[in-house]
This record gives sequence, C-alpha cells and structure tokens, in this order.
Amino acid sequence: MIKVMKFGGTSVGNAGALERSVKIVRGEKATKVVVVSAQSGITNTLIGWMREEGRGPQGVVDDLRGRHLSAVMNRLSEGDLAAYTSRIDASLEQLVTHLERFRRSNDPSLPDTIASWGERLSTITMAHLLSVEGVDAVPMTSEEAGIVATGPPGNGSADLDPTGRNLKRTVNPLLDAGKTPVLTGYYGCTKEGKPLTFGRGGSDYSASIVAHGLGADCLEIWTDVDGFMTADPRIVQNARTIREMDYGEAGELAYFGAKVLHPRTIEPVRRKKIRLLVRNTFNPEGAGTMIHNLRSPGKTLLRSVAIKSDLSIVKLYSSEIVYQPRFVSILLDAIGDNGVNTYAVSTSLSTLVVVIPTSDVPQALKRINELKESQIEKLMVKNNVSLICAVGDNMIDTLGVASKVFGVVEEAQANVELISEGASDIALNFVVPSDRAVDVVRMLHERYIGG
Ligand code: ADP
Ligand code: ASP
Ligand code: MG
Repeated sequence: MIKVMKFGGTSVGNAGALERSVKIVRGEKATKVVVVSAQSGITNTLIGWMREEGRGPQGVVDDLRGRHLSAVMNRLSEGDLAAYTSRIDASLEQLVTHLERFRRSNDPSLPDTIASWGERLSTITMAHLLSVEGVDAVPMTSEEAGIVATGPPGNGSADLDPTGRNLKRTVNPLLDAGKTPVLTGYYGCTKEGKPLTFGRGGSDYSASIVAHGLGADCLEIWTDVDGFMTADPRIVQNARTIREMDYGEAGELAYFGAKVLHPRTIEPVRRKKIRLLVRNTFNPEGAGTMIHNLRSPGKTLLRSVAIKSDLSIVKLYSSEIVYQPRFVSILLDAIGDNGVNTYAVSTSLSTLVVVIPTSDVPQALKRINELKESQIEKLMVKNNVSLICAVGDNMIDTLGVASKVFGVVEEAQANVELISEGASDIALNFVVPSDRAVDVVRMLHERYIGG
C-alpha cells in the first residue's frame, strides 16, 4: 500500500507544526511519499520581492534563512543544525543567482523558478527533521522526480502520463529501498527543464499528480482545519466537517472557491479512484473528510457552499450574436487565452456574458479588441462581484431548490447578477455583489445547512 501525504504551509510553518507533521509521518506504517508546501508566508515573500522593483536579494535571503533556521533550531543537535544550515545555505546561494538574474533578464521562466523556492527549502527541512527522527527520508525536487508540466507561466498543468513513467523510475526505487521521498509541491518542469508553477495553492495538485503517477492507494492532504467543511470556517463560524464527499462535489466546490483544496486536485485521483482524505495536522485524531466515488446521493438540499471573490462580469453586445455561433466561440477563445478561467457563461439574443477573474480583465479586453472580425457594439465590465457555489444532492431533480436558495438571497438584500444552473447536477452557481456575498453565504448556511 502506497500513501501520499501532503503537508500544507501552516503544517510546516513553524517549529510546533513541523513537530506535529513529523510525528504524523513517522507514525504512518504504510509505504509513504511526502509532498510539502512552502512554509506559510514564504511564497508571498518571494512573489512580493519580485513585484517590488529595485530591491536587492540580500534582505529576502536573510529573511528566508532566519525563518527556516528558527523553525528547527531547538530540535537539532549542534552537528545536525550545522548540516542543515549548510544545505539551506547552498540552496539559498542558488536562489541568489536567480534573484540577481531576475533584475536584469526577461527570461519568462524566472518568476516561476523563484516562486518555487519555498518548496525547495521545505523539502530540505522536512527530510532533515524526519531523518533525525529515524525516518530514512530523501528530499527530492520536482525536477529530480520528473513531474512534467505544460502551460503558461504561473498556471501550469501536469502531463500525467510522462510524469507517471518518470515517477516509477525516480521514486519507486527509493520506496523499494525503504526510503521516504519528500517531494516539492507547487510546480513541475517544462519539456525544456524549466520550473512551471501550478497556480497558488498548487501543492495539493502536486500531491494528487504524484498519487496518480505512483498508483497510490490513498492521498492524504494534511491542513489546518478538520477536513472539507460545509463552508469556509473563517466566514461561517459553525461550519461543520463533511464526513464523506463525492469527487464531483469536492471538485465543484474547490473550483468555485473552497480554498481547502487547489481546484485541480480532484481529477488525477478521481481517474484512478484513489481515496482522498483531508485531515487536520493540529487534530490528527479527527476522522477528517473522505473524498471518493460516492454514488448514493442523499436528500440534503444543501451540503456546502463556497464563495469565489475578485471576479468581474464582462458583457459583450453584438446584434443577434447567437446567430453568429462562430463569433461566440471566437470570443470565448480570445477570453480564455493564456489560461484565463471562465467561471460562468450566459447568452441572450444579442449579448454574451462571461464571469472571469478581475485581474484577467485587461488581458481579455485587449484580446477582444485585437480581433479582426470585431463586431462588438458595446462592452461593459462590472467589477466587485462574487460567485457563490451551492452544492447539494440532486439540485436539478429536486423541485423548488432554486426558489428556496434565491429566497434567502433576497432576504440578504443581494441582487443576483447572473445565474448558472443546470450545468452541474449538484451545484447551483450565482453571482452577487461582493459586499453582499458573505451575508448570503452565512444566511444560506444558517437556513439550510445548520450548525
Ligand atoms: P494549506 O496551507 O494546508 O494548503 P490552505 O490555507 O490552502 O491550507 O487551505 C486551508 C484553508 O481553507 C482553511 O484554513 C480554511 O480557512 C479554508 N477553507 C475555505 N473553504 C473551506 C471549506 N469548505 N472547508 C475547509 N476549509 C476551507
Ligand atoms: N506555496 C504555494 C503557495 O503559497 C503552494 C501551496 O502552498 O500549495 O501558493
Ligand atoms: Mg492550500
């Protein structure tokens, strides 16, 4: 039995959390592969540095060094600490060369290379602490493991088949020799050998890719909450842990804002029917959430609700647009260029409406304006909207679900800007102004999910 165990940023973020994570790995009897995120805050620091023009590398490197050393300081003997420090310093030396190049080069792979550095430092840390505790752990980068990625910078996708072949060659021999590989999450490698990140929060996806490639029996995502919950516990105080979920349900919620899983985590494990468990590093006795093929829908009106913020509605007017089907597809193609995700689409006789991240609007508009056949008569953008994804059993077949949901939306004094129903059997999605979205989620939860 092979188990892939992924530890998120808070689970490796400080001395206490690392101690817990190490204990969880050490206590696992199965053959295991560990995947780690950067310590919480490190990726933000690296990305922040790249955005702040003119800053030299030294400050950021000292900061990273300090945070990593202080997380292990009291747990290592003098000799172990010296060995650890020299590995971290060697890694940071490489980072300095990338940071220096970043300021004078336009190499498009450099931002992803730099953003991936927290994961590299994290594998060194985790493997070192595990070794000290008697686990024969080996740190391994995505390059060494052979995780193949394609796509635009900052938004890569894994190429599962070659990745699987590589992992069998690189990771399986270590497992056969009784070792525990500790892999970097968050990024893979292009055909040209350059790092390519999977988007923020991408380490969950990395772990799913590894589970798929090795044909693992189980993927465990260790995080800082008791599992996949009925809503984001930061928004809804009495959100509950969901014991069991279907892959589809978890996938919809993750795509539409449930940050507990990177949106792409589900597909690789679903393909091979690998059980996915979401568990709490800070409460390892808890059962967590089991995500698998759950084919017996119950009768729950609503089971969970997620919220995706920082979205915009882009409305394109062109007379009788629906009678020009090629034009609609050209527009969608232009908007979706460079990996822009479209969260909802709707048409009327003369309009095409899409919901996309606000940060992608300038690029989408640029692409639309560049179209030669542009017959757009008017274009409207509405910012500050959020999409709410309400998931339940049989959303389509059950009479009156929409009226119940929208009744609550009205009570929350929110205007529904767009509805997407019917695309999924289990989800009802709609867009509301962002300043009303949290209230809508809280009221829906209170009324139909409960504390
Ligand atoms: P990690 O660093 O372990 O990857 P993240 O911060 O990425 O952790 O994800 C965990 C967080 O996701 C939780 O702390 C919680 O606030 C948030 N979250 C959002 N929606 C949900 C949900 N439906 N269930 C559980 N957590 C959620
Ligand atoms: N460290 C990366 C991020 O902060 C990936 C992850 O945490 O999953 O986005
Ligand atoms: Mg995460």
